[in-house]
Amino acid sequence: MQKGNIGVSTENIFPIIKKYLYSDHEIFLRELISNAVDASQKLKTLASVGEFKGELGDMTIRVSLDEKKKTITISDRGVGMTAEEIEKYINQLAFSGANEFLEKYKKDAHAIIGHFGLGFYSSFMVSKKVDIITRSFREDAQAVKWSCDGNTEYTIEEIKKEDRGTDIVLHIDDENQSFVDKNEISRLLKKYCRFLPVEIAFGKETEWKDGKEVETDKDNVVNEVNPLWTQKPADLKDEDYKNFYRELYPMAEDPLFNIHLNVDYPFNLTGVLYFPKIKNNIEIQKNKIQLYCNQVYVTDSVEGIVPEFLTLLHGVLDSPDIPLNVSRSYLQSDSNVKKISSHITKKVADRLEEIFKSDRKTFEEKWDDLKLFIEYGMLTDEKFYDRAAKFALLKNTEGKCFTFEEYKDIIKTNQTDKDDNLVYLYSTNKDDQFTFIEAAKNKGYDVLLMDGHFDSHFINHLEQKFEKGRFVRVDSDVVEKLVPKEEQNELKLTPEQRENLTTVFSSQIPQVGKTHFLVTFEALGENDTPVMITQQEFMRRMKEM
Ligand code: ADP
Ligand code: MG
Repeated sequence: MQKGNIGVSTENIFPIIKKYLYSDHEIFLRELISNAVDASQKLKTLASVGEFKGELGDMTIRVSLDEKKKTITISDRGVGMTAEEIEKYINQLAFSGANEFLEKYKKDAHAIIGHFGLGFYSSFMVSKKVDIITRSFREDAQAVKWSCDGNTEYTIEEIKKEDRGTDIVLHIDDENQSFVDKNEISRLLKKYCRFLPVEIAFGKETEWKDGKEVETDKDNVVNEVNPLWTQKPADLKDEDYKNFYRELYPMAEDPLFNIHLNVDYPFNLTGVLYFPKIKNNIEIQKNKIQLYCNQVYVTDSVEGIVPEFLTLLHGVLDSPDIPLNVSRSYLQSDSNVKKISSHITKKVADRLEEIFKSDRKTFEEKWDDLKLFIEYGMLTDEKFYDRAAKFALLKNTEGKCFTFEEYKDIIKTNQTDKDDNLVYLYSTNKDDQFTFIEAAKNKGYDVLLMDGHFDSHFINHLEQKFEKGRFVRVDSDVVEKLVPKEEQNELKLTPEQRENLTTVFSSQIPQVGKTHFLVTFEALGENDTPVMITQQEFMRRMKEM
């Protein structure tokens, strides 16, 4: 047996690992299994180029739990390591991640996010001792066992091991006994390893026999090796996307649309995003997108990676090009991340435009649900506004939908004011403003329904965007002034009659006659309402502000 010291510049990394990564202890399993996956894939690659001539055989990675010995073991049949490789990759290099961590920690403690790439050494967050039992795939390789008890000292010895590959044995320490539990391991596997590309088995499948749960000899495989987003869109049906969605969000209603992302230049990104159906238009849940790195789960907090409005979407993004071991503020300034973010925005807009063009009927049917995302996107993302202006819809009180351009044509003949502005009449509540809507319609005007979550902001935004266009709520005084002169009924009240009536009404309805309310007496046409109480648009908006 040989002894040695781990090559580390800092006096002792382990206490720091334990202390500062406390909340994320559970990632040890993800790190060790990712290593096992890497080792397995390396061997497959070697086999495919002819450098490994043996049988690949069963490549399943096995996780096992020994509740008596309080150990967790991760076994793979990948490339394995020789003693020299352990020296190089574990004793020396493995600390590069840890050193980087220390560097960061010194500068800015807040900047540390839990997903720091500590790799193999994250096993010491939960273990008092770790063994690596490994044998390289190379012919006649000597198997070795490396042991370390969480100090910078380790031992290494030659052992007997028939099969190639690596077993990592974790001797779980006293503080982390909660991991020595079948359900807990199952939970972690489901969270982090669900879509890893190599089969991972945890124990055996069970079945019920004579009222008892008994183990079968079938491996209990916990992951799906070819998740939907890694497959070719051409091979997938609408139903496949829906099924995958149901798998990810079992409680949710079926989504409205999906977008399959597949980019390999200038960065690598795959994924499937869904427009969810939002219940009651209010229960908006952010951060439902799961972020993966080569099928390894990283986080479901994608803020700073995708544009703000897309955090309302659901689905999966997978990119090895998103730097994950850095702080959020760094992420936001990273040029790659910016590129990725604007690419996703473009893809989302393209897809919506495509649906709009190819199936406008469906698009209109789903508009009420889609509207929230699109308006929010248009409000918060200039580029998205420009793209979406082609397919965003305005819906009138009769339920008809128009694009911005189409709607202009509808109102340009008779809905202009004296300054030649197009006047967009809108209602915020079809029931409350019923009489006003009817009155406007009787004059040949069209009234939009703007009763959505973001509509009041959206109206302000559109007014800035539309040249010579202004929005007027259907119950404001201006509606009256839109009437062309010649059409106005002769039967007008004299100023005196007006004054008298105002007094009568204001005695009953206190708001009338106060600064921001006016009483307008309509000509008593056949279809007209005799009296309307209105409020000036600007006064109303002031009050809302
Ligand atoms: P990283 O995975 O980022 O390289 P790790 O600290 O996780 O960093 O692992 C360090 C190195 O140890 C790996 O690059 C690999 O060479 C080696 N290694 C770790 N686990 C295994 C394994 N199960 N089989 C073969 N080699 C491994
Ligand atoms: Mg690793």
